[in-house]
Amino acid sequence: MKSIPELYGSKVFNDKIMRAKLPKDTYKALRKTIQNGTHLELDVANAVAVAMKEWAIEQGATHYTHWFQPLTGKTAEKHDSFITPIGDGEVIMEFSGKELVKGEPDASSFPSGGLRATFEARGYTSWDPTSPAFIKEGTLCIPTAFCSYSGEALDKKTPLLRSMDALSKEATKILNLLGQTEVKRVNTTVGSEQEYFLIDKKQYESRKDLVFTGRTLIGAMSPKGQEMNDHYFGTLRPRVVDYMHDLDEELWKLGIPSKTKHNEVAPAQHEMAPVFDTANVAVDHNQLTMEVMKKVANKHGLTCLLHEKPFDGINGSGKHNNWSMITDTGINLLEPGKTPSENIQFLIVLMAIIKAVDEYADLLRISVASPGNDHRLGANEAPPAIISIFLGEELTKVLDAIEHDEILGKQKMIQMETGATVLPHFFKDNTDRNRTSPFAFTGNKFEFRSLGSELSVSGPNVVLNTAVAESLKQFYEELKDVSKDELDEAVHELIKRCLKNHKRVIFNGNGYTDEWVKEAESRGLYNLPSTVDALPHFIDPKNVELFTSHGIFTETELNSRLEILLENYEKTLHIEALAMDEIVRKDFLPATLKYAEKLSDTLKSQKELLGKPGQNTLDMYSDLTKKQESILSLVNELTAKTKEAEQYADDPLKSSRYYHDTVLPLMDELRSVVDATEILIPEELLPYATYDQLLFTV
Ligand code: ADP
Ligand code: MG
Repeated sequence: MKSIPELYGSKVFNDKIMRAKLPKDTYKALRKTIQNGTHLELDVANAVAVAMKEWAIEQGATHYTHWFQPLTGKTAEKHDSFITPIGDGEVIMEFSGKELVKGEPDASSFPSGGLRATFEARGYTSWDPTSPAFIKEGTLCIPTAFCSYSGEALDKKTPLLRSMDALSKEATKILNLLGQTEVKRVNTTVGSEQEYFLIDKKQYESRKDLVFTGRTLIGAMSPKGQEMNDHYFGTLRPRVVDYMHDLDEELWKLGIPSKTKHNEVAPAQHEMAPVFDTANVAVDHNQLTMEVMKKVANKHGLTCLLHEKPFDGINGSGKHNNWSMITDTGINLLEPGKTPSENIQFLIVLMAIIKAVDEYADLLRISVASPGNDHRLGANEAPPAIISIFLGEELTKVLDAIEHDEILGKQKMIQMETGATVLPHFFKDNTDRNRTSPFAFTGNKFEFRSLGSELSVSGPNVVLNTAVAESLKQFYEELKDVSKDELDEAVHELIKRCLKNHKRVIFNGNGYTDEWVKEAESRGLYNLPSTVDALPHFIDPKNVELFTSHGIFTETELNSRLEILLENYEKTLHIEALAMDEIVRKDFLPATLKYAEKLSDTLKSQKELLGKPGQNTLDMYSDLTKKQESILSLVNELTAKTKEAEQYADDPLKSSRYYHDTVLPLMDELRSVVDATEILIPEELLPYATYDQLLFTV
């Protein structure tokens, strides 16, 4: 048995392995590329490829793949073996620098949003040396970016790397200006807490809705739900313990620092949180984590559900995106400092974030928009669709004092020589938690809580990085020509002004209330309740300007992404409507007919025995018949309305609107009648597992 430190990262071509395997010069050149993004020469790539291949073969690998993240939100891989025939029926194992650095998968079947006509379907993948290669089931996986031949990004990694560079550039400039001259790079750090459900695999397979759509489209709530709050942090059941144990081991082997695990609020719901890493690695790790979660579940006769709302009536699953920035000198920029100058830096960064979230709240909302997440946001189990910031009492007081030139307490503020007031030191407030806030300061990081469980964490971080880069860029422009003596004063004025302009986005109260919705409206904040409401704002002029000016997306890339998002919405709902139609007709209605037959048999024997049928049974029979009729008429309507959607086939926005406004409410209506009928039907007549079984038998 390997010890955990031995096991940890054993499937990763990590720094330790690189140092051991690579010639010294090659190692140094590679480190430079990883740290500063400098170009990698082909001879270095060749040397790295040889070392990587040897290591991979030692680990039992026979193939390699460029592992990438197309706009499906999943990961993709095409495996090539290392073998090269050398004649006489013999082969050698080869892997060149060229193969490491660049791949050319056929891209025609990945979503491109009209970016690439099929006849020029070639795309290419290029190695991202900042995320380490790893081995998965006998294949060496090389994390790569994926672009079209003309250079447009077709994936989730490319814009993330671009946004990290943009933020690094702007943050470094302002830190240098504030006197941190040794800082050369600022990285974004991300820790993503992942929620999921575990259910029995056989029961899962009995549910076509779960199989086709990831969520239950019908199903009455079990007598017990989450109302007793007895599942949250509760003792883990043995099957779950075994699963989590295996999951940890598999993640650790891949160098994913799985740290925390516990039961969540809903029955059968759990959470895993890793230790944070740089955004790029954290995004890759989260994609891998979701994949491993599903695979390990399979081995245990379980199914891991990552859909945002698998069950009606209990909480769905989300993903918290903990986010901060760290300098190459090791300073967390969201750590309130111990000295006044550290605090100036903290306050500038904080202000940049407040401004960014206020100005680009629509983009943050869009970055978490998906058909699945629409069932959570604003439904009192996840933050509202309105994006606001929670700062906690302490920090809000501090900002108030700055805005109004007040001295906060005796100890808390000191007067600078320039007349500006700054804080000597304030402690971080870790305990003040407001779970209803979408974007909360939690001591030394922000926690963006609106993400759905299935989402790639790339998108929200692209928006955050870029929007904050923009604030910092503007701050730099304002401060760059100020003399050293006047800098404190200028910073103070800047913070005061920004606070006045952007404090409307700060809200420390309960985000679940109707009053907040009204209040937010009067503050002029965005309220974009659904994906369809949110998505069109993606290409608002200010957003196009933001992304293009920082080199994150071209206008063409933005349009293509919008098209993909809309198509994803309409297709998802289309599949849901068809699946529901099928399940109701083929599974549910036949079960109700069987029950009707049983009742009718009872009525017959009652007549034989007693001379007339029993009134109660007659009532049950007629109630059931009425319900059947209403289900049949609603499902017929669903069939018709789904068909009518075809008229919008060429317009994804109109089509999405139609599904949202017409088909979705009809599905809800149908579901409520089906669920009210399901509770009448004996379990053995239903051809699928009920909520009772799904939620309480693992
Ligand atoms: P919670 O109470 O919300 O579960 P935790 O303290 O468990 O909070 O932390 C949640 C996540 O935040 C973890 O993944 C952790 O690694 C991450 N985290 C901590 N510090 C930072 C940071 N500076 N940047 C990004 N993520 C961080
Ligand atoms: Mg959290």
